[in-house]
Amino acid sequence: MKILVTGGAGFIGSAFIRYILQNTKDTVINVDKLTYAGDLNNLGVWKKSKRHIFSKTDICNIADLKNIFNKHKPNKVIHFAAESHVDNSILNPETFINTNILGTYNLLEVSRIFFQSLKSKNADNFVFHHVSTDEVYGDLPHPDDKNIDDNDYFFEHSKYEPSSPYSASKAGSDHLVRAWHRTFNLPIIVSNCSNNYGPYQNKEKFIPNTIFRAINNEHIPIYGDGSQIRDWLFVDDHVEALYKILNSKFIGETFNIGGLNELRNIHVAEKICEILDKVKNKEPNKSYKKLIKFSKD
Ligand code: NAD
Repeated sequence: MKILVTGGAGFIGSAFIRYILQNTKDTVINVDKLTYAGDLNNLGVWKKSKRHIFSKTDICNIADLKNIFNKHKPNKVIHFAAESHVDNSILNPETFINTNILGTYNLLEVSRIFFQSLKSKNADNFVFHHVSTDEVYGDLPHPDDKNIDDNDYFFEHSKYEPSSPYSASKAGSDHLVRAWHRTFNLPIIVSNCSNNYGPYQNKEKFIPNTIFRAINNEHIPIYGDGSQIRDWLFVDDHVEALYKILNSKFIGETFNIGGLNELRNIHVAEKICEILDKVKNKEPNKSYKKLIKFSKD
């Protein structure tokens, strides 16, 4: 099977490709623009695999996408490519609208034309899997608030209430993907996951940033009082779920993928410091926790 993966040089996309090349016989066509967030070294030894075909391509360029589909004729598409850092979306929303919305639109259109040209057996197996975020649902009520059930979760039918340009652009892309299913019968699946962590994550994200700053003896910034809660999902668990969903028959469905692992930011930062104190600290009376600095949210 040939799987076209967009954003396969990024954090989750590269974990997905490593998983496929290690555990299946599938071939991957990796379409990635290689922005600051993409690095082919994230693929480790699999970068040079014969089953890894790389194309440095911007998903905003529809002509290039058409050529790739015509040349490689993928059996399935899984779409990770996105601008993904919330803070950047506040500083520069435009690239988020371009890549996350217009880029997704291009990919849908090229996939639709390609799908409509397929003969029945290949058409039956074709799927466009859109990888999205649970941030499209906004925030859950905080458990410190009164009358809140501790077991409150997002569900696949939860209302969309995105709050940042990043989550709004991802919400927009989710709507487009569902519209291409309802209107054009493109076989799609959407998955919305919580915060991933694991190897090769970009240094700008919370966990690697905390580790990097601690070992470089820099302040560890915590927004507000650090009581914000995130659900943490190990990236390899996520990609295993994605591969199962990609090969399922649940066309038109949405899957929420979570880690059931909710932690306050301050607890995550403190835990990282405690681990570093054990494995790295040469001054037993001084903890990395001293580097934690609260800043305005
Ligand atoms: P990332 O920022 O690490 O990687 C994004 C990849 O997309 C990079 O390789 C980059 O070069 C590529 N890219 C960006 N713009 C492109 C363009 N115009 N054309 C082609 N390639 C382009 O992101 P990630 O953390 O791996 O996230 C992957 C997907 O998962 C995203 O869609 C994101 O919204 C979603 N997601 C991520 C998380 C998380 O915790 N990281 C959580 C939920 C959902």
